[in-house]
Amino acid sequence: MTAAEGSLPTPPMIRMAGVDKYFGQLHVLRDINIEVPSGQVVVVLGPSGSGKSTLCRAINRLEPINSGTIEVDGKPLPAEGKALAGLRADVGMVFQQFNLFSHKTIVDNVTLAPVKVRKQSAAEAKKAAMALLDRVGIANQAEKYPAQLSGGQQQRAAIARALAMQPKVMLFDEPTSALDPEMVQEVLDTMAGLAKDGMTMLVVTHEMGFARRAAHRVVFMADGEIVEDSTPNEFFTAPKSDRAKDFLGKIL
Ligand code: ADP
Ligand code: MG
Repeated sequence: MTAAEGSLPTPPMIRMAGVDKYFGQLHVLRDINIEVPSGQVVVVLGPSGSGKSTLCRAINRLEPINSGTIEVDGKPLPAEGKALAGLRADVGMVFQQFNLFSHKTIVDNVTLAPVKVRKQSAAEAKKAAMALLDRVGIANQAEKYPAQLSGGQQQRAAIARALAMQPKVMLFDEPTSALDPEMVQEVLDTMAGLAKDGMTMLVVTHEMGFARRAAHRVVFMADGEIVEDSTPNEFFTAPKSDRAKDFLGKIL
């Protein structure tokens, strides 16, 4: 490596600059500017309807944007085709609804995309899938069908499935909101483990304990805008905006 190359700054893993998004007349993302460096965990908070899901979906282009730029690992989002499939493979996403294939076993859910998209052999994919299921604590459920698992186990399977693509970034959109309360912690613990291992993560959640414990940064959204972007400690002890104070007053 030359000296010039050595001094190149590493691009942030996610970079959104001047991003606007409309649904018809509704302006749902307003001049969004955010950078997530590699290895950072950013928790996105905000009231319902503030644009958190749209923000996540824009990052892997499930929603096209109207203006601005989005880059993942220094590369602008491709509009379509093979490059878009490549981007989707780099950006893992976990939703509130687990979206597992109900007619496939847990291990088959995990191996499907690596075999199809990453062109792994069946044996290779299965070995990797079993290691991932072990990592999320459900290796003993591998041959069962989704309906035979608890909600917490299904969500951990969905996390394993996303990890099987070896993503550079993981996006979580309210991953515990559909779970019975007693299953929330096992999913949050799995996510905290990923964070500890250095995964770059953007997490939309209402779990304030997770935000305090695992987030490097808290981004607070309201009405499509980023209103605050600070450390968890700053945000929870001294929120600057009235909207954040109001939000915290309602949920804490
Ligand atoms: P959040 O995840 O913070 O609850 P969303 O990103 O889901 O917010 O929604 C932001 C706004 O955009 C809301 O007013 C919502 O009703 C609207 N919205 C979301 N998806 C669509 C869509 N596909 N078509 C029209 N409006 C939408
Ligand atoms: Mg949402």
